[in-house]
Amino acid sequence: MKTHTDKEQHYFRNLIELSLDSMVMISSEGLIIDMNKVLPKITGYSRDQLLNTNFSSYFTDQLTAKEMYHHVLIKGFLYDYPLTLKNKKGVLTDVLCNASVYKDYDSSILGVIAVVRQASEKKLYTELQAANQKLTFQNEEKKKRAAELVIANKELLLQNEKKEKRAADLGIANEELETLSFSETSAAQYSRSLIEASLDPLVTISAEGKILDVNEASITVTGVKREKLIGTNFSHYFTEPEKAKKGYEKVFDKGFVADYPLTIKGKNGKLTDVLYNASVYKDDKGNVLGVFAAARDVTGQKLLSKYSLSLIEASLDPLVTINTEGKITDMNQATVRITGLARKKLKGTDFFDYFTEPQKAQEVYQQVFAQGSVADSPLTVRHVDGKLTDVLFNGSVYTDDNDHVLGVVIVARDVTDQNRIATELLEAKIAAELATKIAEDAQLKAERATLVAENAVKAKQQFLSNMSHEIRTPMNAIIGFTKVVLKTELSAKQKEYLTAIKMSGDTLIVLINDILDLAKVDAGKMVFEQTPFKLRSSISVMLHLFEVKIHERNLTLVNEYDERIPEVLLGDSVRLHQIIMNLVSNAVKFTTEGTITVSVLMLSEDDEKVTIQFDVKDTGIGIDKYKLNNIFDDFQQATSGTSRLYGGTGLGLAIVKQLIEPQGGSIEVTSTLGVGSTFSFVLTFLKTNEDAISDSEVVELGAQLKQIRVLVVEDIPINQLLMKTLLDDFGFERDIAENGKIAVEKIHTMEYDIILMDLQMPIMNGFAATEYIRNTMHSNIPIIALTADVTTVDLAKCKAVGMNDYIAKPVDERLLYTKIMNLVKKPKKPYIDPEGLNTKESCINLEYLNKRTKSNPKLMMEMISLYLEQTPPLVKVMNKSYMDEDWENLYSAVHKMIPSFSLMGIDLDYENKARVIQEYANMQQQSGEIPELVLQLDNVCTQACKELEQEMNKLEILANEN
Ligand code: ADP
Repeated sequence: MKTHTDKEQHYFRNLIELSLDSMVMISSEGLIIDMNKVLPKITGYSRDQLLNTNFSSYFTDQLTAKEMYHHVLIKGFLYDYPLTLKNKKGVLTDVLCNASVYKDYDSSILGVIAVVRQASEKKLYTELQAANQKLTFQNEEKKKRAAELVIANKELLLQNEKKEKRAADLGIANEELETLSFSETSAAQYSRSLIEASLDPLVTISAEGKILDVNEASITVTGVKREKLIGTNFSHYFTEPEKAKKGYEKVFDKGFVADYPLTIKGKNGKLTDVLYNASVYKDDKGNVLGVFAAARDVTGQKLLSKYSLSLIEASLDPLVTINTEGKITDMNQATVRITGLARKKLKGTDFFDYFTEPQKAQEVYQQVFAQGSVADSPLTVRHVDGKLTDVLFNGSVYTDDNDHVLGVVIVARDVTDQNRIATELLEAKIAAELATKIAEDAQLKAERATLVAENAVKAKQQFLSNMSHEIRTPMNAIIGFTKVVLKTELSAKQKEYLTAIKMSGDTLIVLINDILDLAKVDAGKMVFEQTPFKLRSSISVMLHLFEVKIHERNLTLVNEYDERIPEVLLGDSVRLHQIIMNLVSNAVKFTTEGTITVSVLMLSEDDEKVTIQFDVKDTGIGIDKYKLNNIFDDFQQATSGTSRLYGGTGLGLAIVKQLIEPQGGSIEVTSTLGVGSTFSFVLTFLKTNEDAISDSEVVELGAQLKQIRVLVVEDIPINQLLMKTLLDDFGFERDIAENGKIAVEKIHTMEYDIILMDLQMPIMNGFAATEYIRNTMHSNIPIIALTADVTTVDLAKCKAVGMNDYIAKPVDERLLYTKIMNLVKKPKKPYIDPEGLNTKESCINLEYLNKRTKSNPKLMMEMISLYLEQTPPLVKVMNKSYMDEDWENLYSAVHKMIPSFSLMGIDLDYENKARVIQEYANMQQQSGEIPELVLQLDNVCTQACKELEQEMNKLEILANEN
């Protein structure tokens, strides 16, 4: 192997520095002792900051980094060890470490050389690992190289040892020097000491080429004793004596030589590469006496070169050096692999030939010369068998000491995998973007369509609402006044015509109602109430309405009712009416002879609810099998002739279905043509202890007990007139207010029993007026809303502002009478502010207790005092156990409170709130809701106790009176 010069050192250093991977040397203590430029770049710390610090401290997982280090020390080498580097700013980078130990001649380990490669994508690492597994032969190569590296290290160490020994000698010499003061030593002695202390072999040679003197280093390097050396021909001790002589002559010619390379052959055959620096020495008169030569031992440098070479060879990236003519002068194994050509074949060839675009490669190469370096220029290398490898081309010139460009060093990083991954990522990204775009477009379209649809629905709603108001107001008047006129003295003919007018009006109103109902269902605005009602009487009242028709048609009506059904149920009786009315009126319409049977059967019952099946059976014309499936669709009639023969629009059953299913029920039909049909539906109702609001109990006209004063709040004069006529008919006193504001003024000065309140009015509408009456005037006067427009009427809003009931226009006089009577005769139900107890109104209602005790004051007092005794401690326990999160006690305290709520007539709402607390307590779960609920229960119970104490005082007086 030829001796490596400083220039080559320079060139190796260049190579190492050029590496895209950070290379780092670590001492056996784990400290960083050397590195290339990349490490400072990727860590963010300067070279000086990094030197002598712990290598492991730059990784997120220091333990794993240390482990890696130990692993290398044990195994000698390690590949692709994944770590995460943490830079100065805290940015994390996934890296793969390749490392091997370097040892001295005794195989004692000096440290670790690590190559840290960035693997910014975890995926990349996985890919690399997979690739590595496949290429095991490559690993073998690496092992071999690692072994070479070890040998190189050994040599290096031996050299170091020698140097150490010399250093020790030098130390002794220095000590000696220090002990001597200059005055005590002769200059000659001093020079001698210096010469002897020199680590380099020094020799003086006579004009004849004979050795005159040597220092200790010369003795060591040749292995020949001083006496034997002196007087012999100096050229004997070199591998190339002729070259040595030439060098010697050159000194005489020129007066000196610098860095003249020779190899000293030791006695035992050991070779030492040296660079000679020599000059002539003269006597006082200037006569040349001989040559003084100093040999610098460059074996260490050579070893260092070898170590650099090993590193270069170990690199997975192709490394190439090119001379100024563009010919390859040297390369590593990776270059051989990537081109598929042996070193010999590559050497001296044109570097550009191995790229798919030679022209471009040449340009890049020229760029290196022009600019001194080039970074990450993409090119593609072609293997002899055609395989292409994408590389990033990095190059820089290398120069001699005088900055003369000698050639270019190139590192071509194989980026095939990265490119593939990047392409895949890009493709995936494009695909994802495309998909997103498609999805966004679709969403946009859908949103637009929804908007259009919503606008259409809104427009339809608005139209129906407007039309409803516009149609109903005159219809209201037509029907109302027809009824009024029908009650007057009329001729038979007149009566007949007026009856026809009224019937047509009724039909028209039913049709309008149907359409509006359907619109309401479409808009999802159908609200189902949960009010207590009596099912049995409700059904019989309704069937009563068909009596005349059934009688006219000579049909029989049978009502079968299951006696086990609880008397009062919770549900929407109005909607139930609508369902049964529709089915019964169809049965009547399509049956000419026989029986119509309405049966009500309880299917199941538990503590909370009952499930009931309603059947409406007829012996009519029946329905064709094929029509049965879509009979419940909008505007569907069994035959096209149905409308002509029987009238109707095909909306009834669609509405029926829409009234049943949202309540959790179901409907079906069985039918045989010519035999008859049965429509069956099932609904579930909650049970209740509450009293039914008996608006289904029709109060007979004229059954009034006292003079009733009604305030009609209505802006349309014709409606005012109609209401006046109706109320006059009932024999009630009535007063009219044109809007809410006038109504409020009137209430201040006059006393009324009930208010009939239109909703849409100028100046102050019905909602605002009611709100004022309830919240500002704190009046409990019953208020019935008069609504012309069922689509937009928000029943919940009516309730929220505190209205007691509502009635649709055109007003059914019987229904109006019933509603008024029921509200007026009932003790005014205390109005409870929805907020709870902000009002001074009482929160208890002793009606139920009154009933239960049959108004026995003593019994009532007993019950109340029991409540007063129990409640405060329960409230205390509830508060405390809630604070302590003692769920068991919270559960039991609330549990004990619940029955007393209905007993003392406390709003059902509180019972429900108590149950919510119970649920949370049962799940042992804290909730943001609980504190508020506990506070509300505490408040209502405290208030109830206060009120009950007052009641007790009253009852006491009563009991004493009895
Ligand atoms: P309408 O009765 O207004 O036409 P419905 O939706 O109530 O609309 O009924 C739809 C169709 O179903 C009727 O037109 C009729 O053909 C058929 N139908 C409904 N009930 C019966 C029945 N009890 N007997 C025979 N056919 C019926």
